Amino acid sequence: MDFFNYNAGRLFAEQVEAERIASEVGTPAYVYSAATLRDHLHKVQKAYESLETTVCFSVKACGNVGILKLMAAEGSGFDIVSGGELYRVLEAGADPSKVVYAGVGKTDREIVEALDAGIGYFNIESEEELANLIQLARPHVAAGRSRPRAALRVNPDVDYETHAFLRTGKKETKFGVDIERAVAVFDAYADNPSVDLCALHVHLGTGGKTIDPYVEALEKVLVLIDRLRQKGHRIGALDLGGGYGADYETETVPSAAEYAAGIVPLIRGRDLKLILEPGKSICANAGILLTRVLYTKQGGSKRFVIVDAAMNDLIRPSLYDAFHFIWPAQVEPRFAPAVRSKGLHIEGSEVVDLVGPVCEGADFLAKDRPIPHVERGDLVAVFTAGAYGFTMSSNYNGRCRAAEVLVDGDTFRVVRRRESYEDLVALER
Ligand SMILES: *Cc1c(COP(=O)(O)O)cnc(C)c1O
Repeated sequence: MDFFNYNAGRLFAEQVEAERIASEVGTPAYVYSAATLRDHLHKVQKAYESLETTVCFSVKACGNVGILKLMAAEGSGFDIVSGGELYRVLEAGADPSKVVYAGVGKTDREIVEALDAGIGYFNIESEEELANLIQLARPHVAAGRSRPRAALRVNPDVDYETHAFLRTGKKETKFGVDIERAVAVFDAYADNPSVDLCALHVHLGTGGKTIDPYVEALEKVLVLIDRLRQKGHRIGALDLGGGYGADYETETVPSAAEYAAGIVPLIRGRDLKLILEPGKSICANAGILLTRVLYTKQGGSKRFVIVDAAMNDLIRPSLYDAFHFIWPAQVEPRFAPAVRSKGLHIEGSEVVDLVGPVCEGADFLAKDRPIPHVERGDLVAVFTAGAYGFTMSSNYNGRCRAAEVLVDGDTFRVVRRRESYEDLVALER
C-alpha cells in the first residue's frame, strides 16, 4: 500500500503532482510520502500491540533527519549501525532509550558515544566486542550512570532465500555468534557489574518473501531462552531484527499482520519484550525516484532510454539485480498501470533498457523493460525506491547527490537540498 497514484494519466504523490515537484526541485529527486511512512509504521505497531513491543525503524534504509523526525513523532524507536546514525537519530529528537545498536565493528569512540547517549540496547556481535563494551562501560557505571543493556546477536543458522549479499542468518556470515555458543557467552559474561546482558537479537537478512524463516528462527531462539533461564540467566527482551518483505511488485510479500500472526502466538505469555527492526518494509514503497529522459537511442536491436538518474543515485539494480517498477509520470490514460509487477506489458509499450549517464556497463535501472513510449524531457518514476536508495548513493563520476522531498497531503518540502559542485569539493585541500 502506498500513496503514489495515477489520476487521469498523471502521477501524484499524495495530492501533489510529480511533475510539479520535478519542475520546482529538479531531477533526479527522491520523493517520499509521509502518509505511506505513517501507515506502514502504524500497521506494524498495531500488529504487535498485544505484546510489549518497540518498533525500531532501521536508519540505514532511509536516514534523512526529516524522515526520522516524522518516525520519532509516531513513536518509533531506531535501529542504528554506526556513530553517524546515532548522531542522525539524536538530531531528529529520538528517545535514546528506544535505540538499538547493531554492527560487527563498533569502534571505541562509537561505543562511548552510545554509552553517553544512554541507548536502549547494544546488540553484541562477538565475544571480543562484549569484553570491550564491559571495559568501556566500567568508568561510566562507576560515575553513577546506569548499567547499559546488551543483547547477544545469535546466528540461528536458518536458510533464507534471498540474494547472497543480503543473507545474514546463516553460520558462514560475519554477523552474530553461533547459537550453540550463546549459553557459554552468557555463563562467561552475564554476571558482571558493568553491562547487563539480558536479551537476545536475531536478524536473518533482508528481502525474504515468506514468514517461515522467522518462525523457524524464533522457535530455535525460544529453546535457547528456556535453557538460559533454566541456568538462572535473566532474559527480558528478544529483538527479532528486520528483513520483513517489502512490496517491490504488487502484493508479493506477507503483510505486517501476517508476519505477526506467525510470531505473536509463539511469544505470548513468555514474559518477553519484543523489539522489531523493520527497514524496507516501512520505507521502500514510501519513496520514488523522479528522473528525466535525457536522450533515447537505438543500439543494435536495443532501444536505450538514457535518464538523468544513475547507479550513483540508486545502486540496487546494479548491486543486487533488484527489480524496480519504472513508468512515465504522465501517460495516456490507457497506460495507467493497474499493477506494478515485472510482467506488466500494456499493448503499445516499447521494450527498452533504462540507463544512467555513469561510465560503467553496470549503470542501469532496468533491462528489457516494456514501458510506454518516452522521449527527451519526459519525466519517469522509479517506484519503491525509498529504502537503500538515497542512503546508498554516492558522488561517483563527480555527480551531485539528488534532492530529497517529503510530501505530506497537499504540501511538500525539500528535506535535503540537491548537492552543489561546491559541496563536491568542500572537504578537499
Ligand atoms: C539492515 C538491518 C535491518 C533492516 O533490514 P530491512 O530489510 O530493511 O528490514 C534491521 N536490523 C539490522 C541489524 C540490520 O542490519
